[in-house]
Amino acid sequence: MRVLLVGSGGREHALAATLARSPRLTALFIAPGNPGTAELGTNVAIGASDVPALITFAKEQQVDLIVPGPEAPLVAGLADACEAAGLACAGPTQAAARLEGSKSFSKEVCYAAGVPTARGERFTSADAAITYIAERGAPIVVKADGLAAGKGVVVAQTVAEAQDAVREMMTEGSMGDAGRSVVIEDCLVGEEVSLFAFCSGETAMLIGAAQDHKRIGDGDTGPNTGGMGAVSPPRGFDRTAQEAALDLVVRPMLKEMVRRGTPFRGVIFAGLMLTETGPQLIEYNVRFGDPEAQALLLRLTSDLLPALAALAEDRLDTTPVTFSDQAAISIVMAARGYPAKPETGAVISGIADAEALDGVRVFQAGTKENAARELVVAGGRVLSVCALGDTVQQARERAYAGVKAISWDGAAWRTDIGARALSRRTLTDEQWNRI
Ligand code: AMP
Repeated sequence: MRVLLVGSGGREHALAATLARSPRLTALFIAPGNPGTAELGTNVAIGASDVPALITFAKEQQVDLIVPGPEAPLVAGLADACEAAGLACAGPTQAAARLEGSKSFSKEVCYAAGVPTARGERFTSADAAITYIAERGAPIVVKADGLAAGKGVVVAQTVAEAQDAVREMMTEGSMGDAGRSVVIEDCLVGEEVSLFAFCSGETAMLIGAAQDHKRIGDGDTGPNTGGMGAVSPPRGFDRTAQEAALDLVVRPMLKEMVRRGTPFRGVIFAGLMLTETGPQLIEYNVRFGDPEAQALLLRLTSDLLPALAALAEDRLDTTPVTFSDQAAISIVMAARGYPAKPETGAVISGIADAEALDGVRVFQAGTKENAARELVVAGGRVLSVCALGDTVQQARERAYAGVKAISWDGAAWRTDIGARALSRRTLTDEQWNRI
């Protein structure tokens, strides 16, 4: 199979490495890719959201399957354009990608499908939002309605903080068009986990779960980022609990999407809060997570390519996806100043040394080669250092040894990825005893 993978982050580097192992792969193109993916296939200088150019390239190169990494091309209609051009795409149509592209739309689907989620309201007027916050009190969550690369959410501890966030998003336009309307939600309390499944029509097949660490600082402090690290499986959220969560938050949504005439196909990534009263949906994403995919895919023991090819044909592959029982961790190394203003240009060293360590893989994201062909920092999240281990502890030790082998001026990372177990109160005794 000739495959075109779309995207340029650590998730896409991990997907490229996974696809490259498939005996069915005959050619791999990555648009636009990064220096890491260039070692696994052919990078093509087309932006991930340049849908017409992607289609032209795929036709020219007789690509059999397009694998979208990020959400933006899907929200921009990549799958629809593929369908019109007779190309196979392992992702949802624009209408179904609204589950991620519009927070208010996904809330509406949750309500209609009976999926447990925080109470929320959409506002197009800043004054009305500010009054609602005053009435509802804090803590409260303010979300830009549109896509904001994981950075459009403020979990406000006070009424004033929430009202300031509304002013910044709606009046000052800090999130651009994505924040012209906002969703204001009650604050959920608990442990957060990410659940992944392949979906086609009303059917869903569990892939697995991971736990992301969204905040920039140790101990979950500071602003939200695209994600600073992940562990898979999350301690205490076993496959039985994952299947139960799929029944609660994914399958009813799929049914509702079919009822609306906009069925979902592709990878669903449900962000969940495990609250005292059970799992609640935080959000749907319509693709693999980054950095969750890096950890999850390290554990994959089956061939990913037939599974993705089946999705593109609107069916689930009959062969189940399988994972090793090992734990996997991904630790994001970011540029100084991330997420506000990352500093770029520093020369990166030590990736080969890190990968020489037992069980360690490095996936690149915000990197590029300079004129002297040195690898330099070119974005906020620069790379993720990932490791497998027999236990979470072993995976952590290996991954942090990898982090220590890599350096550049201004490298920053969290030191507590995977250090925390799920808290006792969100677990059954049986689950707790298995940790
Ligand atoms: P989202 O982009 O919707 O995933 O939100 C980003 C992050 O904000 C989530 O991963 C949570 O950590 C946090 N968050 C979002 N909604 C809520 C909520 N209703 N209650 C508490 N935290 C939330």
